[in-house]
Amino acid sequence: MSHPQPLLCVGSLAFDDLEMPSGTFENVVGGAATYSSLAASLLTSRVNLVGVVGEDFDPATLSKLSSRGVDLEGVEHAKGKTFRWRGRYAADLMTRETLDTQLNVFADFQPKIPASYKRTPYVLLGNIHPSLQTDVVGQVDKPKLVAADTMNFWISGQPGPLAEMLKKIDLLIINDEEARELSGIQNLTKAARDILKRGPSRLIIKRGEFGALLFDAGGAFFVPAYPLEEVRDPTGAGDSFAGGFMGYVARTDDASPAGLRRAMFYASALGSFCVEDIGTRRLLEVDSRALAERIASFVRLVDYGGGASLQLG
Ligand code: AMP
Repeated sequence: MSHPQPLLCVGSLAFDDLEMPSGTFENVVGGAATYSSLAASLLTSRVNLVGVVGEDFDPATLSKLSSRGVDLEGVEHAKGKTFRWRGRYAADLMTRETLDTQLNVFADFQPKIPASYKRTPYVLLGNIHPSLQTDVVGQVDKPKLVAADTMNFWISGQPGPLAEMLKKIDLLIINDEEARELSGIQNLTKAARDILKRGPSRLIIKRGEFGALLFDAGGAFFVPAYPLEEVRDPTGAGDSFAGGFMGYVARTDDASPAGLRRAMFYASALGSFCVEDIGTRRLLEVDSRALAERIASFVRLVDYGGGASLQLG
């Protein structure tokens, strides 16, 4: 048996204002690193969090994170207000528009990796300036697997630093739109081949309710999204997916192709929990028993009888 390893999560901690078809929810605690670290904390016993909060951030939220095994030594407390994001979702919750981004203390964020985190073997770089992501990789001592997220804003606005960042990471986790924009190729399989030539040896393309694809040297692997009857808030689903994925890899200390395929199920399970309620509410409720039940449902979802049963006789 392998020993669970720690995971380093770097990224935003935020207040979100969410305009949903079901109503407006303001001052919801969010941020990519909040979602990722909460998701990962269900799987691995230690998550090292690096981010910044302002004077207005609620200490009770930080204690909730800490009670879940998230180490907060790397969370900087800065003078001023916490990062704030406002988004409006379409009626089908499939698309959203950013109405406002107030960087506040996040504007001067320079991630500093505490000495006690430098040997963390697994690293998840949330969506921040690609130069900062590259800088974090330089501060960590020989990690086993470094994963990063990014977004259209950096793909179009910072192509040079983004290209440098891609050379430093092992796994890029993006959505289909971002994969198309980054590669300039519409077909996702071709786009994946192109992106894999730019640095990372593995790529995950998330497709929301249509599941996610993992590309590596062994080819493509697909995991569906868990079919839910009600989705309340998709905010943070991608970050929870990434946190669930890296949390499982850290727990099993296994970054082999087979290990990463198994991690895809945990990623999709954590993404599915996240969307069941507003903000981090559902992620805070879920325990290892609920997770085990969802994984069992997932196994049933894709169980076609196994082996050669799909072959024509
Ligand atoms: P997701 O729905 O997975 O894309 O993540 C949503 C989270 O990302 C929200 O909680 C926001 O606070 C955070 N977020 C939105 N825009 C940015 C940004 N420019 N940089 C960092 N985090 C952001």
